[in-house]
Amino acid sequence: MSQTLQAVRGMNDILPDQAELWEQFEETIRDWLHAYGYRPIRMPMVEPTPLFARAIGEVTDIVEKEMYSFEDALNGESLTLRPEGTASCVRAVLQHNLLYEGPKRLWYMGPMFRHERPQKGRYRQFHQVGIEALGFAGPDIDAEQIAMCARLWDDLGLQGIRLEINSLGQSEERARHRADLLAYLEQHQDRLDEDARRRLHSNPLRILDTKNPQLQALVEGAPKLVDYLGEASLKHFDGVQQLLRDAAIPYRINPRLVRGLDYYNLTVFEWVTDQLGAQGTVCAGGRYDGLISQLGGKPAPACGFAMGIERLLALWQDQGHRHEIVVPDAYLVHQGEAAARFAFRVAEALRSAGFAIQLHCGGGSFKSQMKKADGSGAPVALIVGDDETAANAVSVKPLRGGYEQPPEQQRVGFDELADHLGTLLFPMEDDDGSL
Ligand code: ATP
Ligand code: MG
Repeated sequence: MSQTLQAVRGMNDILPDQAELWEQFEETIRDWLHAYGYRPIRMPMVEPTPLFARAIGEVTDIVEKEMYSFEDALNGESLTLRPEGTASCVRAVLQHNLLYEGPKRLWYMGPMFRHERPQKGRYRQFHQVGIEALGFAGPDIDAEQIAMCARLWDDLGLQGIRLEINSLGQSEERARHRADLLAYLEQHQDRLDEDARRRLHSNPLRILDTKNPQLQALVEGAPKLVDYLGEASLKHFDGVQQLLRDAAIPYRINPRLVRGLDYYNLTVFEWVTDQLGAQGTVCAGGRYDGLISQLGGKPAPACGFAMGIERLLALWQDQGHRHEIVVPDAYLVHQGEAAARFAFRVAEALRSAGFAIQLHCGGGSFKSQMKKADGSGAPVALIVGDDETAANAVSVKPLRGGYEQPPEQQRVGFDELADHLGTLLFPMEDDDGSL
């Protein structure tokens, strides 16, 4: 026998138990985004490679070493599996001229691809929820996005996620800082690692973002970007902080927070937890006022963030939460040819009435079918044999799994079945379905 094929390393199957948790998470996410006026957008998973090189920056982890790029076999065009959503989202907004009517609040959710070393919380296919607010210049939208995150942690019952913020100022301010930073790092060249040495002249700011513990002390002593901010940048930063204080959202200014992507300016933020080991950042974002014009659009300010769904759900489960188990309303067992046809009709009629019915398929004794019914977690088994079929009726048997004290089994006529089942399953509801 040939060996069974395996999924690509770092790309995970999400099996039904987990996938149900994902669905419930996604429902919460949709309600939460709706509450803030964000509208959905869906972009392709493959984009022309130059989009990411231009948007994210040539000297970044993503573009230097993490992209899944390949040549289109037909026309030789270089294509890339999207490593993140912002570039695609802005590309779509420009292509369809969406800013024509004014600012936009947009969100998306889906898989992203990065060729990284797989480990806990770091995968090659992972999933993000991302939001982008395009055309808004003030600190209010930055603060609103941060407050959104705080609310989501609360909605999900997540604890221990702390907020770090910083300001990257504007490019002239970064240029002055860069000169001093470069001088400082050149003085200590012998202490730099290979990555840092390579970036020293192309992108020294990025060295502050290093994950190498041996560089921490060096980086700690480096000139701080905040000390180079001009009046307007400081005012924007103060504005964000004021709104955060008003909303009672605690934060820490982390001068080393520079983010791994080139397109950020002014506000940057990360939500971090100590409970996930090395992969502790669950959400990251900030302002990127230059990106839209960099991608060929009419200049417009913008701000957004992305959160890692795998990391959030791992934290959620680590903190003892369990998702609601999804069970059918009833499991339908049957025996005999005529009964099988009647059962099929009963199942469809009940589904039309709004019930979730699992129809037994594949035969077997009543006993083995009843075992399946129990195992399904359904609160009720519906039984159709020759007698029931002849009487145009169904036996309704409450199951132990669904009730502490199951009511008696009862035979119910086909026409009364939906009402009967409704009363049995949802005894507190009025006729109109409200509680
Ligand atoms: P890191 O520093 O952990 O590599 P990053 O700065 O590359 O993160 P972003 O590009 O800002 O990450 O992505 C936003 C969020 O997406 C991260 O905070 C994280 O929660 C999640 N994320 C990023 N890369 C991965 C990955 N390879 N696997 C799982 N989640 C990821
Ligand atoms: Mg990364």
